[in-house]
Amino acid sequence: MTVPVETRVVTALQALVRIPTVSDRDPSRVDPEAFDRLLAELKTQFPLLHERLTLTIVGTHGLLFNWPGASADRPVVLMAHLDVVPVDADAPWQHDPFGGEIHGSPTGPAIWGRGTLDDKGCVVGICEAVESLLEAGHVPAQDVWLSFGCDEEVSGTAAVEAVEVLRERGVTPWLVVDEGGAIAGEAFPGVKPPLGVIGVTEKGTTSLELVAKGRGGHASTPARNGPTARIARAILRIEKSPFPASAPAPTLELMRRLAPHVPLPLRPLLGRADRIAPAVTRALLAAGPEAAAMTRTTVATTTLSGSPALNVIASTAKAGLNIRLMVGDTVAGVVEHVRAAIKDDSIRIDVIESGEPSPISPMDEAFELLEECIAEVFPEAVATPYVMMAATDSRHFTAISEHVYRFAPFRMTKAQRQAIHSYDEHIGVADLVDGARWYQLLIERLPA
Ligand SMILES: [Zn+2]
Repeated sequence: MTVPVETRVVTALQALVRIPTVSDRDPSRVDPEAFDRLLAELKTQFPLLHERLTLTIVGTHGLLFNWPGASADRPVVLMAHLDVVPVDADAPWQHDPFGGEIHGSPTGPAIWGRGTLDDKGCVVGICEAVESLLEAGHVPAQDVWLSFGCDEEVSGTAAVEAVEVLRERGVTPWLVVDEGGAIAGEAFPGVKPPLGVIGVTEKGTTSLELVAKGRGGHASTPARNGPTARIARAILRIEKSPFPASAPAPTLELMRRLAPHVPLPLRPLLGRADRIAPAVTRALLAAGPEAAAMTRTTVATTTLSGSPALNVIASTAKAGLNIRLMVGDTVAGVVEHVRAAIKDDSIRIDVIESGEPSPISPMDEAFELLEECIAEVFPEAVATPYVMMAATDSRHFTAISEHVYRFAPFRMTKAQRQAIHSYDEHIGVADLVDGARWYQLLIERLPA
C-alpha cells in the first residue's frame, strides 16, 4: 500500500525539522550525530529512493544520488541542503523551532520550524517527487542527480566535492536547480500576482581587510596621520566611490515581465525597460538600498579594530570590507577599485575571502522547462529571471554547467521570506505538497 502524498511529505518534513542539523564554521561545534540521525531518518521516510538510487557521500554528510534515466545526454541536478542556521535563543518564536509542529498561519495550516523553508522543504519536495515516481515505475528521460549539501550555511565544501565527483564522471549538467527564488507574494509594490522568481546569476561574496601600521606608543603624545586616522579616511573614501551602477540583463527582463501587472501609468515605461536601461538604473538607485543593490557591486565596512586599550595608540588598525560583486565585476577589479579609492599606498589590502559572481544562465529551453512547470503548478504566478543577492551551493556548479537556476517551488509571503535565517520560519502544508508536485512534473517533463 502506498502512503498518500500529503501524509508522507508532511510527516517527512516534520521529522527532519525535529533534528537540529545546525552547521558551524568551527567543525568542533557541529553535532555529527544530528547529521547521522538526519540521514537515517531520510532513509526511513524515502526507502525506495535509497534502495534504487546510487549514493556517493560527499564531505562529512553530503549526499549525491544518481538515478539513471533513459539517456545520459542531458543530465539534471536537483539540489538542496541538509544543514540549517542556528536559532537565536532570544528570538520570539511562536512555536518550538525544532518542533516541526503544525499550526495555523495567515495562509492556512503550516509546518513551523527552522529549515522548513531553508532548505529542508526542498529536500523533502525532491525526495517525495522521486519516491512517488519510483513507486509508479517511472524511468526519467534523462539521468537525474540529487545533490544535498551538509554545510551550505557556512560556505562549506560538500558541494565542491559533489562537483568534483560529477566532473570525474564526465557529467555536464543540462540543468541544475537549487534553492533561491520562490513563488514570491507581495514582491513589488503595486503588483498583484506573485512572481515566480528564478535566479539566473548570483552575486559573488568577497571580503577584504585594510591594514594600516604605525609606531603606536603612548596616547599622551599622538602623532598626526596614525593608523586609525588613515583607516578612517580610507573608509570614507570608499563610501564616496561607489561602483558604477548598471541594471543587468536579468533585472531589465524582470521589469519587462512586470510591465503588464504594474499600475497603468508605469506600463509603457517598464515594457521597454531594456531600451531605457539607464533610466531604470537611476530609478532603482533612488528606490532604496535593496533596489540599489540590484544594480551594482556593493561594499559594506563591517569589522573595525585599533588599539586594545584606551591610553595606547594603535600600532595596527584594520577595517573589514564585505563586498558583493555584481556579474561583470571581478575580485581583481574590486581590489583595484578599492586601492584607487583610498589613495593611500601605506594601507595594505588583504583578500580574506574571494568569491567571483556567477555567470548569467541563459533563458533557453532549460529555463523554459522551469517556466512551463511554474505555469502548470502555479498558474497565478508571473515567472521571471532575477539576480540573486545571497549565495547558494549552486554557484560551484557553474564550473560544470551553463544552466544553473535558483528556484524553490514554494509560495512564500513577504513575512515568510523575512523569517528565513530569522524566527517563525514556516511553510504552508498545501505549499509543500504543491512544491513536491512541481519537482515531480519537472522530472516527468525532461526532454528525451
Ligand atoms: Zn539555504
